[in-house]
Amino acid sequence: MKKILNYINGELIEPQGQKYIDNYEPATGEVYSLIPDSDHKDVELAVKAAKEAFSSWSQTNKEVRSSYLRKIAEKIKDRQEEFATAESRDNGKPLSLASKVDIPRASHNFSFYSSAIIHFASESHQMELGAINYTLRQPIGIAGCISPWNLPLYLFSWKIAPALAAGNCVVAKPSEITPYTAYLLSEVCVDIGLPKGVLNIVHGYGHKVGSAITEHPEIPIISFTGGTQTGQTIAKVAAPMFKKLSLELGGKNPAIIFEDCDYDKMLETTLRSSFANQGQICLCGSRILVQESIYERFKNDFVAAVKQLNPGDPKAKTTKQGALVSEAHMQKVLAYVKLAKEEGGQVLCGGHQVDLSADGLNGWFVQPTVIEGLDQNCRTNQEEIFGPVVTISPFKDEGEAIAKANSTKYGLAATVWTENLSRSQRMAEQIHAGIVWVNCWLLRDLRTPFGGVKQSGVGREGGFEVLQFFTEPKNVCIKYDK
Ligand code: NDP
Repeated sequence: MKKILNYINGELIEPQGQKYIDNYEPATGEVYSLIPDSDHKDVELAVKAAKEAFSSWSQTNKEVRSSYLRKIAEKIKDRQEEFATAESRDNGKPLSLASKVDIPRASHNFSFYSSAIIHFASESHQMELGAINYTLRQPIGIAGCISPWNLPLYLFSWKIAPALAAGNCVVAKPSEITPYTAYLLSEVCVDIGLPKGVLNIVHGYGHKVGSAITEHPEIPIISFTGGTQTGQTIAKVAAPMFKKLSLELGGKNPAIIFEDCDYDKMLETTLRSSFANQGQICLCGSRILVQESIYERFKNDFVAAVKQLNPGDPKAKTTKQGALVSEAHMQKVLAYVKLAKEEGGQVLCGGHQVDLSADGLNGWFVQPTVIEGLDQNCRTNQEEIFGPVVTISPFKDEGEAIAKANSTKYGLAATVWTENLSRSQRMAEQIHAGIVWVNCWLLRDLRTPFGGVKQSGVGREGGFEVLQFFTEPKNVCIKYDK
């Protein structure tokens, strides 16, 4: 069986302890490769390699760093189908989604930061008395990058690319649930001759590899994307060590639909924003709030469309719904459907596992689910489910929509549907979230800062802001005679 290897000091190597974890294919429920079950010894090796590489990588001309990143971007593009197939197999997501969205966007992360580092500038401030201050931005050292399973390569590259561009060396851990594209990335780095030790990828569990990275005294900067609870654990470890920390965490995003929206566009996009990647995108809308005058119409049309979203073989070109990422995750999602019923919700469609064993698919498929009749304060509407389950509820006016939208501990993203420009601005100002999409969803301009508020995270990724995060500012003040 294929063994995935760690990428440390420029080489693909076995874990020190020679232990492996089974890698399951979500669509079939079968083990198809083995993942290193690494531990602190492997992290130690990676830190040693990164430390040795840092003195020259941090001094490397930024055009040179830029050209390595561009080469990585191009190689991912060249091997796009291979990457997409691996991601679909590892994650259960439709191949079409992996090849149209995840992999091109991952390649773009490298090409964007290849270019951004060239244009990255620092500030200067002149004082009338005859002094000039400028901010020297220097690479920090070793960055620890930890990412989740839902958009495996995209989120991994979203951290690694700016960290490397800024002149840091990286010790990174992908989710052990979806390790394959990170492994292909390490092959690409070997292929393009990325200097050894600059990027190190250590596979394994969060409680072993992840915590060894966050606890390591020689890793002063941690960029983490994942669940809010894991973020809290990491913050507790990192805070007393005064590590620089960026946390991109969970969400419970509202989609707010006003009666004056462009109805057809809204309906089509709301289907996508609810169920793309089986609802396993942190930015998916899971609470749909609909103005009461169009609530019944929306409910009927939406449920009819959702019923057409039948899960199928992720490899098939026509499949729009694949498998959930693991059996444990599927059980969690189904437990929430049960909870929703106990809380008084009516399941309008879906809510059950789908049996595709006749097609040789014994994996973890769940029928997209719509639930109504729940109070915003119940657990189903307050806790992140992260699967193909949405609730719908009516609201009267803007005030009620905002109150409902802001009623959770999360603040990652929101979508507003209205043709009234002033209303869209009022809503954007009052919704407490890191991103508000008006009449669209998942449109991303990499120049803009990205991240959540409240318990959806601290810090910002994207744009030049993340290059600031990955550098240390030093003010230099020069006095001159007037
Ligand atoms: P987890 O928090 O379970 O895991 C994320 C990563 O952290 C994994 O690599 C995991 O390893 C690792 N990890 C787990 N425990 C520790 C630890 N103690 N120390 C260090 N690392 C650890 O999240 P999921 O992988 O389940 O991803 C889903 C979550 O990610 C959802 O809540 C979703 O909202 C959020 N997310 C947020 C995004 C954002 O931009 N705000 C974007 C995408 C997802 P292992 O796999 O072994 O557990």
